[in-house]
Amino acid sequence: MTISGLSNEREEMTAVAGFNTSLLHSCEAGDKQTGATLPPIYQSSAFYQPSAQQHEKLFHNQAPGYSYTRIANPTVTAFEERMTKLEGGVASVACASGMAALTNALLNILQAGDEIVSSASLYGGSIDLFRDLEAFDIHTIYVKNNDWQQIEESITEKTRVIFAETIGNPRLDITDIKRLAELAHAHGLPLIMDNTVATAYLVKPLELGADIVINSTSKYINGHSDAISGVITDGGSFSWDTEKYPGMKEFKKFGKFAYTAKLRNGLFRNTGACMAPQTAYYNLLGMETLGLRMQRECENAYKLAEYLDSIEGIEVNYPGLPESPWHKLAKEQLKHGYGAILTIRVGSKERAFSIIDSLEIPMIVSNIGDTKSLVIHPESTLNVHSTRQEKQDAGVYDDLIRISVGIEDIEDLIADFKQAIRGAKCS
Ligand SMILES: *Cc1c(COP(=O)(O)O)cnc(C)c1O
Repeated sequence: MTISGLSNEREEMTAVAGFNTSLLHSCEAGDKQTGATLPPIYQSSAFYQPSAQQHEKLFHNQAPGYSYTRIANPTVTAFEERMTKLEGGVASVACASGMAALTNALLNILQAGDEIVSSASLYGGSIDLFRDLEAFDIHTIYVKNNDWQQIEESITEKTRVIFAETIGNPRLDITDIKRLAELAHAHGLPLIMDNTVATAYLVKPLELGADIVINSTSKYINGHSDAISGVITDGGSFSWDTEKYPGMKEFKKFGKFAYTAKLRNGLFRNTGACMAPQTAYYNLLGMETLGLRMQRECENAYKLAEYLDSIEGIEVNYPGLPESPWHKLAKEQLKHGYGAILTIRVGSKERAFSIIDSLEIPMIVSNIGDTKSLVIHPESTLNVHSTRQEKQDAGVYDDLIRISVGIEDIEDLIADFKQAIRGAKCS
C-alpha cells in the first residue's frame, strides 16, 4: 500500500552532513528531466491518469501518484521532503498556514472530551485556537512552562497531548524538551512542539524526544514574508494506544507512518488545509538560506540585546543574556545561538509607542522571521483577544516591545534604537 505524498526514505548522504550543505543537497534538487536546478512549480489543480484502472488504484492507495492538489502536489511534496530532512522526521504534511498545521496536528488525534495540557507561554493565535476548540468539548489546561509538578498534576485520564513552543513567542522562555518528552511518555502521551521561533537551526525537537513538530513556515523557513504556510513533521516513533486514540486503529498498519497516514487520509484533505504549489516553491527557495539568515539574525539580536541592556530604564528579555532566567537551558539546548527575537520593557505603553514610532529601520509589522527587522506592541495587537491572566502568563505587558531582528548592518540598527530611545517621550 502506498500513500501519495509520504516521503520515500532516501539513502542518507554521507559525504555532506553540515546544516547548510544539507539544506541545499540532501534531497533531490530541481528537476531530473530537464536539469533545472530549481523545482518546477506544478501549478495544476489536478493530474490525469492513463487509465480508469490506474485511477482506481490511485484512489485505493494502491499506486503512487498525484490526483488532486488538495491531497498532494509534486512541488509541495518536494518541500515536505526538505522539511522532513530538516527536522529529522519520517514524513511531513505542508499546510496553508501555521494555524492550519497546528489545528490539523491536534485534531488528528483528539476528539470531544479530550484534554490538552499546554504551556501557557504561547503565540496569541494558538491561545485563540484553544479557546475555539472548547466548542467541540476539547479543553486546554495551561501550565507554567517547565513547572514539572504543575504539569504532572494537570494530567488526567482525559489528557491526550502535551503541547509547548521550543522558544515561547513572545515570552522567549525555553522549554526543556527532553524532560517534557520524558514526562509525556511516562504518561503514554505524545509531545507536540511548535518550533517556529527557534527553527531546526537552533534545535530539533524530534531529536530530543518530541513526537510531532509543527512550524509556521510563514516565518524563518520562508524567511522573506512572501507567503503564509505551515508544516507538520512526524517523528514516527510514538506508539499510539488505540484505546486512547481510537481513530488510529485503522492506521496502525502503516507503522511509523501511522499518524501521517491518518492525517493525509482524513482531516487534512477534508479540511482543505493544503499548501499552494507556488508557496512551496517560495519556501524551498527561502529555506536554502535558513542557516545563513539565522546565523546573522541571531548575531544581530545578541548585539542589539547587549546594547539595549546597557541603557538605563530599559529591561531586556533575551535568552542570550546571562541574567535571563532561561540562559542556562538555552545554552545547553540551543545550537549556534539564542534566537533572533528579543523583547524590551520600557516603562509605559506611551513610551513603547513613542519608541516604535521613532524607529526608522524596523517596520511596524505583526510578523517575525523576515530578513528585515520588525517591531510590534503585542499587548495591543497580537494578544488583543487574550484575558489579563493569559497575557501575564504569556509574558505580555503594556510597556513591552517585541523586536524580530533582521539581517541589516548591526551598527545601523543600534544607531536607530539609540536615536529612537533618546527622542522618545518619557512617562
Ligand atoms: C506565526 C506563528 C504561528 C501561526 O502561524 P501562521 O503561519 O501565521 O498561521 C504559530 N506559532 C507561532 C509560534 C508563530 O509565531
